[in-house]
Amino acid sequence: MPHRPGGPTVAPRKTAEVIGAGLAGLTAATALAQRGWSVRLHERDSEIRAIGAGIYVWGNGLATLEALGLYEEAAFNAHVGPVLETRDHRGRVVEEVPINGPGQARVLTIMRDRLIGTLIGGAEKAGVEIRTGSEVLEAGPDGRVVTRSGETARADVVLAADGVNSRIRGQYDIVAHRAPARQGATRLTVPRAPGFVPEGDEGKYIEYFSGRRRVLYTPSSESSLYVALVADERDRPASRIPVDTMAWIRSFPHLEALLSACAGVPGRWDTFQFLTLTRWSMGRLAFLGDAAHAQPPYLGQGGGCAMMSALGLADALSGSDAPVDQALRDWEYAERPTVEHTQRWSHRLGRLNYVPDAARASLLKASGHLPRLGASRLRAALTVPTGAGRFAGN
Ligand SMILES: Cc1cc2nc3c(=O)[nH]c(=O)nc-3n(C[C@H](O)[C@H](O)[C@H](O)COP(=O)(O)OP(=O)(O)OC[C@H]3O[C@@H](n4cnc5c(N)ncnc54)[C@H](O)[C@@H]3O)c2cc1C
Repeated sequence: MPHRPGGPTVAPRKTAEVIGAGLAGLTAATALAQRGWSVRLHERDSEIRAIGAGIYVWGNGLATLEALGLYEEAAFNAHVGPVLETRDHRGRVVEEVPINGPGQARVLTIMRDRLIGTLIGGAEKAGVEIRTGSEVLEAGPDGRVVTRSGETARADVVLAADGVNSRIRGQYDIVAHRAPARQGATRLTVPRAPGFVPEGDEGKYIEYFSGRRRVLYTPSSESSLYVALVADERDRPASRIPVDTMAWIRSFPHLEALLSACAGVPGRWDTFQFLTLTRWSMGRLAFLGDAAHAQPPYLGQGGGCAMMSALGLADALSGSDAPVDQALRDWEYAERPTVEHTQRWSHRLGRLNYVPDAARASLLKASGHLPRLGASRLRAALTVPTGAGRFAGN
């Protein structure tokens, strides 16, 4: 421990190298810096980009933002819907989940660039050293990282938050299960306009089914509408970019105005992934976010789980005197059950695409009457993350 002559003994700051500036990496870096750590965040790309259009942020993600002191900024101009509706191939409501009322799950929809921009601002304010254009090639359980520029650093902890195709994870034999991608979505943003959905429904979140295709209607700010077009990966007309609007209108004639507005709009197709690891950490190296627990987006929880678990990680590393490897195991023990429960549910909900229209409508109507099933499905959304409430306002 350093000691300045005549001055008090100063404990050296603990150090973290964080790999990847997505929702997981930015949250972990900021939470650690707010707890006194010296943090360096490496992002491979030359700038930090928000990928996708809008995003659902449920209670667990919102509580994480509150704990980081970033809620107000992230939620500015966000949309607060009153209900999540599922509609069948004829546009009839088959399931309703009321939200944002007393005793109900909380959820906001935010434009992704606003959320990522807010997290970058929070990281900078907390003193995180952000290095863009810095690709990490290797990271080890001994706390070592090697970048493409040839630099080697050693830290008390290394966090690999480098996404679903994690290069760092690829260096270790720790994938327990990786389901082949069969479905995906095109995400795009269109200006909100009257006539896309019946009058009075404009503020709702609505998921429409037809055969193996889904359309997700999501107001995400006062002026922006996030649209996701979900289909089988092998459904070529449905996964085409730019959007083949006629192919989609054939499945959803009642959404012609909305789908026509997608014509020529830049969009992005991503296939969904499901991934579990044998363990989330080894020595001083931990995996988080999609690198550790990717899930299809049917619950809108991949990012929420990433943020919740990143906050829990910072808390586990700072909240006790346990050695780093033990703190990481404690963190996994605390977070993993909720995350994997949520992964299983989102995977299950993906199977609905393969149920015939009429049977699916009956199934959803019946499940809507089972409150325990609903609560189980929303478990992560209703979870208060470890560390929430502490450090707010930093
Ligand atoms: C269609 C779709 C809709 C979704 N909707 C929602 C939703 O509504 N709500 C929700 O909560 N979640 C949603 N998700 C999931 C959510 O987007 C992800 O779970 C979340 O973005 C994962 O964040 P991450 O930080 O783990 O990974 P990423 O966002 O992938 O970030 C990884 C970062 O690491 C960088 N990187 C990679 N390799 C390296 C390296 N070697 N060195 C340095 N940097 C590196 C990358 O450039 C990237 O910036 C959705 C996903 C999809 C596909």
